[in-house]
Amino acid sequence: MASVLHFNVFDAPEKPVVGDRPRPFGPPMAWDPMTSTLIYGESDAVLVDPLTTVAEAEALAAWVELHHRNLTTIYITHGHLDHFAGLSVLLRHFPGARAIATPKTVDLARRQPVPFYRKLLPGQLPAVITLPEPYEDEAFALEGHELRIIAQGHTDAPDSTSLHVPALDLVVGGDVLYNQCHQYVAQTTPEIRENWMTALDRLSAFSPKTAVAGHKKPGVADTPQAIGWTKKYLVDFDRLQKETSGERELFDAMGELYPTWAAHQAWLMFGLS
Ligand SMILES: [Zn+2]
Repeated sequence: MASVLHFNVFDAPEKPVVGDRPRPFGPPMAWDPMTSTLIYGESDAVLVDPLTTVAEAEALAAWVELHHRNLTTIYITHGHLDHFAGLSVLLRHFPGARAIATPKTVDLARRQPVPFYRKLLPGQLPAVITLPEPYEDEAFALEGHELRIIAQGHTDAPDSTSLHVPALDLVVGGDVLYNQCHQYVAQTTPEIRENWMTALDRLSAFSPKTAVAGHKKPGVADTPQAIGWTKKYLVDFDRLQKETSGERELFDAMGELYPTWAAHQAWLMFGLS
């Protein structure tokens, strides 16, 4: 008989970004707060997305160790470097774990602009950036329970995925899902946002009890309501992009609409299309 599964979410706060400011407005820049999720049974565990910096990955590894489980698998939801740069640190602590991602995620991961990230977060990234192995199947197992990989297409990243854990009524959204954190919409097109909304509907269709966002304001609940909030943010961005003129006005208008959400200024690293 399959054992009972549990999960726990690690919140990493915003971290300061240094270097040249690409835009002359907005508050000091910080990288979005992030999450990593541990799903565990009686003796084994799976970790989703091992964070960015050495400090984060070391703290995450210590937190995983507190659960006294054998970490079998590390799953990477998408190929943006901030979600897997910490992998080499985790693998040093858990040499028996296998790091996997979809083949498309591995392709994107291989093409990440590592020097650009090293400039933004000087001295903070691991010296070695390890890639996950390409994993072809649509599911993997934890103590007899299925964890399903949901291909979501281009949302916040190309070829993004979410993870569905039916035994827990849990979705780990990856960056398809945000929670009270400004979304990386800066370089999306109307077509990408359309696909992003379809991806969110896919999460809704699972009727999850819990939905963990890739980026969330630390401490807020992992409520499935965040699926609707993420979608509304895309609708508002679409509308305000048409109603405003210029990136400064659009930036300010979104800030006024979502004054309590985290990491507004992270947009400015990339500019608004
Ligand atoms: Zn992200």
